[in-house]
Amino acid sequence: MQTTFTPAQLADPHVAESEAILRKCVHCGFCTATCPTYVTLGNELDSPRGRIYLIKDMLENGRPADEEVVTHIDRCLSCLACMTTCPSGVNYMHLVDHARVHIEQTYRRPLKDRLVRAVLAAVLPYPNRFRLALRAARLGRPLAGFMKRVPFLKTFGVMLDLAPSQIASASVAAVPGIRAAETEKRGRVAILTGCAQPVLKPEINEAAIRLLTRLGVEVVVPQGEGCCGALVHHMGREEQALVAARRNVDVWTKAADEGGLDAIIITASGCGTTIKDYGHMLRLDPAYADKAARVSALAKDITEYLATLDLPRQEPRNVTVAYHSACSMQHGQKIVMAPKLLLKNAGFTVRDPAEGHLCCGSAGTYNILQPEISATLKARKVRNIEATKADIIATGNIGCITQIATGTAMPILHTVELLDWAYGGEKPALLQK
Ligand code: SF4
Ligand code: SF4
Repeated sequence: MQTTFTPAQLADPHVAESEAILRKCVHCGFCTATCPTYVTLGNELDSPRGRIYLIKDMLENGRPADEEVVTHIDRCLSCLACMTTCPSGVNYMHLVDHARVHIEQTYRRPLKDRLVRAVLAAVLPYPNRFRLALRAARLGRPLAGFMKRVPFLKTFGVMLDLAPSQIASASVAAVPGIRAAETEKRGRVAILTGCAQPVLKPEINEAAIRLLTRLGVEVVVPQGEGCCGALVHHMGREEQALVAARRNVDVWTKAADEGGLDAIIITASGCGTTIKDYGHMLRLDPAYADKAARVSALAKDITEYLATLDLPRQEPRNVTVAYHSACSMQHGQKIVMAPKLLLKNAGFTVRDPAEGHLCCGSAGTYNILQPEISATLKARKVRNIEATKADIIATGNIGCITQIATGTAMPILHTVELLDWAYGGEKPALLQK
């Protein structure tokens, strides 16, 4: 794609990077076929190619974002299916990240949108605030139907609907400290506790820590780490995202310097995609560029790390699993086979739902901010999963678990909960009911 940025514009490294990305796009449109919003809405402006044109036009003309650009960029799930499909290697992720920052800096959203986004950015990344908010949401739930009928309150009604009916207390898995290997030590890792996951489903990191220590891996839960920054990063709140990234880089650098780390384990693939991008996000910060690149190189999804441990094959168990590959897992991190091979090796029968490349509609805060498109994608995903006739669903991302669980009666678990069970742990509580 030809571009006409001026030398003065290209002096900005963010613009220079976007220009290089834009020049790779050859307009072929292959990406449209796998884009969930194009497949759902059928509008070229809701396709990757259409969004690329909108972003190019906005940046090249140095224009503030307008309503049209914001509408179509906001509808993008950042699922990155387009990056998997694109034959020209267009880095849509970094392009849309830049566009979102530009929107945040140049566009004044309506009051309701500003309020909703401010609440999300002030609550979700902080586990204690999030837990309190969920408890309050439980009380407010009877009002959800009414709120969804009032335009100004609709998004808050959607939030009430998404709040789980049970809220777990703070988990021991989140308490900082070192969990010793239970057998001969063969590795040392840090594990990300994060923000929303320990509140919504603390069982995930509990299972990961149990499994790792049983396999001879020492697990560090470092003091001071927190949200990876993905939630605000996807809202274009770059400074808030970089504050979170720098804090985590400092914490993990200290842990690596003090006792050595083979990996930083992440059990939410959405967070993993962002942490693997810290090296890029902080590339222009001389104090952090090298440290962030080191952290990104150490970041591993739990299944990626377990695949290196050569786990023994287990006897077949009469349980069929529909494996839902989160977008951040398959498109963001290109981890496709490892989770399924681990499950098969652990004795489960694994089935792939049809249209596995399409997003379930969760996408961070997308199910709150774009409830209609999100609901359509969820229904399509659930139809495909239920058609496998599997006993349970496994996936590697808390967002997908929360989203899909609200659309089906099938039990849905994190892959590591099933692996923990297969390798000596207790049957997950959800399957004991
Ligand atoms: S990230 Fe997903 S929703 Fe956004 S343009 Fe690419 S394929 Fe479409
Ligand atoms: S597939 Fe790649 S090169 Fe083709 S239009 Fe989409 S982004 Fe551009």
